Amino acid sequence: MTDLTHPIDVLVAGGGNAALCAAITARRAGATVLVLECATKDFRGGNSRHTRDIRYMHKAATGFVTGAYGEEEFWRDLLGVTGGATNERLARLTIRESETLGDWMPANGVRWQKPLRGTLHLTRSNLFMLGGGKAMMNAYYATAARLGVEIAYETEVRELKMTDGQFASAVASRNGGSNEYAAKALVVASGGFEANIPWLKEYWGDAADNFIIRGTPHNKGGMLKELLRHGAKPEGDPRGCHAVALDARAPKFDGGIVTRLDSVPFGIVVNKKVKRFYDEGEDFWPKRYAIWGRLIAEQPEQIAFSIIDSKGLPHFMPSVFPPVEAASIAELAKAFEIDPNALSGVVEKFNRSVRGSKFDPGSLDECHTEDLDLPKSHWARPIDTPPYYGYPLRPGITFTYLGVTVNEQAQVIMQDDRPAKNVFAAGEVMAGNILGRGYLAGFGLTIGSVFGRIAGREAARRAGF
Ligand SMILES: Cc1cc2nc3c(=O)[nH]c(=O)nc-3n(C[C@H](O)[C@H](O)[C@H](O)COP(=O)(O)OP(=O)(O)OC[C@H]3O[C@@H](n4cnc5c(N)ncnc54)[C@H](O)[C@@H]3O)c2cc1C
Repeated sequence: MTDLTHPIDVLVAGGGNAALCAAITARRAGATVLVLECATKDFRGGNSRHTRDIRYMHKAATGFVTGAYGEEEFWRDLLGVTGGATNERLARLTIRESETLGDWMPANGVRWQKPLRGTLHLTRSNLFMLGGGKAMMNAYYATAARLGVEIAYETEVRELKMTDGQFASAVASRNGGSNEYAAKALVVASGGFEANIPWLKEYWGDAADNFIIRGTPHNKGGMLKELLRHGAKPEGDPRGCHAVALDARAPKFDGGIVTRLDSVPFGIVVNKKVKRFYDEGEDFWPKRYAIWGRLIAEQPEQIAFSIIDSKGLPHFMPSVFPPVEAASIAELAKAFEIDPNALSGVVEKFNRSVRGSKFDPGSLDECHTEDLDLPKSHWARPIDTPPYYGYPLRPGITFTYLGVTVNEQAQVIMQDDRPAKNVFAAGEVMAGNILGRGYLAGFGLTIGSVFGRIAGREAARRAGF
């Protein structure tokens, strides 16, 4: 077992991407580092172990990306998704610093692979990790161990002892007991609070009981609460969360990437009252998938049903749970315990309204509806070819946006706008500074990697290295 009795320079709370980037960097600077990870060794790595790819700035194509992706294009893409809800100084810092990740990550054990088909059109801007986030985290843990970083698993930090922005120690539960860890500097890299249903209920009410959490059950936001209790300045919309349409049969936590469903543009979606509620073909799916979680969260009982026919099935990534199959629309409705006559009526009306015959999933095609109160703008084809298929959908929460404010040194900013002396934050717990709204695929890891490295460097400096 790890000897935890000697003094620590840098304490890291959390065990995902941001935490390990910080730990490795601080250790390489010469500091002694202890990582406190809530999860067991098998389930270490938080949401980072569910990832596949990272967005980074680069000047030219390589064996793993198909072309250049420069600072201005990256910045414009970020502005596009956030609508300006971003701190430009921190965002540009993140973008510029991301350039070195293409080399830094392999230098710390990560291996790249060529992008696979069906990966949201990211072949130019994003690097894909061979073996995904799980392999990335295993590589980082192996590197950290080789460098002499100490890791304590199944250790949940419950309390921070801080005075006037100065961290003294952290109290954590371990093996049924409670230990106090003093350190010269603290890096908080403990993710968001998406796994804390009671906290989500403060903003979403009882609807949050029906949310499915795509990642780790350990991101309960305990550290975020502690930082806020000590006067850290909050950043980001407390109600804001990234939420996708998820297979309702997914496990409550940790279903990861495979339980997301991409069938929506190829049919219609109705709620429990058998009403369509949003244009399923409004825009390309990579630009729309992240709004569907919230849309479903606003429906009765937070459930919806994606209805397609056999023509639709080949056009999206195969689902991990097989679709519900039926010979008729009415039968499909019965399987979902919704009104069969109502669903048959909705489908017939939809089929009659379809115009255009040049179906093309690769473009904003001409297949649309006419004279429906709620139009479908593209990829509208009659749902008329049995067997019929359906998926039950629930809101799948990826992460929350509320976090703490930081500066360019990753120092936590207190409510009087002064930086905490020796407290740093990295990853999802501060991502709201840069990504105040929306999402850019692969950018969660970018923020965590860049700020993890900065936090590690600055924490080591604060500890005298
Ligand atoms: C299914 C899924 C797929 C995704 N795919 C991508 C992708 O391909 N690319 C991308 O860029 N982003 C992706 N994301 C988002 C990405 O996972 C996050 O942006 C990123 O992993 C956040 O890293 P982090 O280190 O801040 O948090 P995490 O990796 O979640 O780590 C938080 C850590 O803190 C620990 N912890 C929490 N509370 C405590 C406590 N009190 N004490 C001790 N430890 C604690 C947890 O156990 C965990 O180890 C995906 C997310 C999900 C859920």
